[in-house]
Parts: sequence; structure tokens; C-alpha cells
Amino acid sequence: MDYSKAGRIDLHIHSGASDGTDTPSEIILKAQSLDLKAIAITDHDTIDGSKEALKLGIPSALAFLTGVEISALPPKPFTCSGSFHILGYGIELDNAELTRTLETLQQARKNRNPRILENLNRLGFNISLEEVKTLVGEGQVGRPHIAQVMVNKGFVRDLNEAFDKFLARGKPAYVDKFRIDSRQAIDVIHNAGGLPFLAHPGLVGLAENEKIEDLIAELKKEGLKGIEVHYPEHSEKQTERFLHMARTQHLLVSGGTDYHGSIKPDIKMGVGRGTLSIPFEVYQKIASHIDIQ
Ligand code: AMP
Ligand code: ZN
Ligand code: FE
Ligand code: FE
Repeated sequence: MDYSKAGRIDLHIHSGASDGTDTPSEIILKAQSLDLKAIAITDHDTIDGSKEALKLGIPSALAFLTGVEISALPPKPFTCSGSFHILGYGIELDNAELTRTLETLQQARKNRNPRILENLNRLGFNISLEEVKTLVGEGQVGRPHIAQVMVNKGFVRDLNEAFDKFLARGKPAYVDKFRIDSRQAIDVIHNAGGLPFLAHPGLVGLAENEKIEDLIAELKKEGLKGIEVHYPEHSEKQTERFLHMARTQHLLVSGGTDYHGSIKPDIKMGVGRGTLSIPFEVYQKIASHIDIQ
């Protein structure tokens, strides 16, 4: 395989196995047509997207990392009001401990969805689980799907309004879900032969007196191997700050768009909002730390 040519990569992509709208096959085709050199499918709490992609076969000009994005609890005493997610790259897809852990998290999602819908119905929005499931098809239900049904039924203008008014943490329809600790997420990824990364450090939402440097140092003690530096929602200043942190704390660097397909149309694969460009070397460095089977 010739990976020597420089080019762009995208190591944060959601498929229909979670709340993306493209199938793994469509993702691979799109990555090829965009001339991306490496991708990772990183679905929320499921590896079905990565499994499907490998089953289909990855074209030789495209490097591929298996992936997952686990919603976790930050180490104490950090309180994250945003999205605290651990990405796992290069995981073995038949690992029993990982499978068991993800099944627990998937069950937690299943328990949560009817409760979100109960809240919405109480607020006067008539939405059934069946309607949401019809939209989703095979994959697991997440809040963006519920938000999309709200848009389709004319209850809100767009996904952001659904989150900002009702579905985000602290809003009236929000329901928390069971999460594993960061250490457990990190361990389970390690034990499956993968590398744990902190996803979008700019979105974790630390309290005012807490510093991202300290959170990352604590996660490193738990076994974190890298941070997602390149991300559409990171400002230039944040990107530089996270890059600096990766260097000083000896962590690997990752990057991706968090592409979700048509459910988040502003974010395009490979380029995010149009300006992201993650070099192939970012993939090479990560891959060199994984025993690729
Ligand atoms: P869930 O897995 O059900 O907790 O939903 C997580 C998904 O919701 C991710 O795709 C996030 O990008 C999306 N999400 C979380 N917060 C917001 C927000 N405030 N606005 C839009 N999307 C969000
Ligand atoms: Zn998502
Ligand atoms: Fe995330
Ligand atoms: Fe994501």
C-alpha cells in the first residue's frame, strides 16, 4: 500500500450505526471521491460501523482505523457540562470486554430515549418512539434523531434549536444516561489493543476554575494516549493551545470533522466547515503506535 503521498485525512466520522446518516459503504465512497488518505469510523458507543466497513473491504489507497467514541464521566473533581467523549482508535472488533461494555452503554441509551420522549410529550410535543425508530432504521437512537423528528414535525426550525431549547444538558427534556468512568473507557480501549484519545477538548465544558491542561494531565495518568487537536469547532487559538499541550505532555495528536452526514449538513467530510485540513502524518504517527493486525 502506498501511503506516502501527502493528503488530507478525517479520523472522526459517524455512520448510520449511531447518529450519522451515511452507511459505511457511502462513507468509504465519499472518502475516495474526496481523495482522503485515511479515515476512522468513530460511532457513539458502537463498533458496528467499523465492522461493516471492514467487511466491505477498504480500498488500498485509503488507510482505515477502526474506531469508537465513548461517552464517559470525567475524572474527579472535574465537572464537564459539555461533551466528554473518549475516542478509541485501532481497536480489535472482536474483543469480548469491549463488546460487553458497549452493550451496557447501548442498553443505557435504550433506557434513556423513552424518558426524553416522555419529557417532550409533557412539554406538548407529540412524538413517539416508533416515529424516531422509523427515521433511524437499523442504527441506535441518539438525541440528534429525536431533534430531527422535532424539525420534521415543525416543532423547531433546526437541530440547534432543538438542542438549545430542549435536548441539551440542563434543558427541560434532557435526561442523563449511565456512563462509565474515563478510566474504564481508557482501559477497555487499551485492552482491545486500541489507543484512547480525548475527543474535542474544546467542547468538554469545564468549570471556570478548572483547566484543560489539568484534566488532560489527569487523563494521561489514567492511560490516555492522545488528544483530538484538529476539530471544526476549535478556534485557531484553541488548536494551538491543544497542540502545545500534546507536545509538552507527550501525547499523540488526532483530528477529524465529526462528520454526521445530512443530519449536520454544515459539517463536510474531510474539511469540516470548509477550512480544516488534517495532514496524513497525523494518521501515520497514530498508526505507528498501533499493532495493526
Ligand atoms: P447522544 O449520543 O444522544 O448523547 O447525542 C450526542 C450527539 O448530540 C452528538 O452527535 C453531538 O454532536 C450532538 N449534540 C450534543 N449537544 C449538541 C448541541 N448543543 N447542539 C447540536 N448537537 C449536539
Ligand atoms: Zn453524534
Ligand atoms: Fe463527541
Ligand atoms: Fe462524534
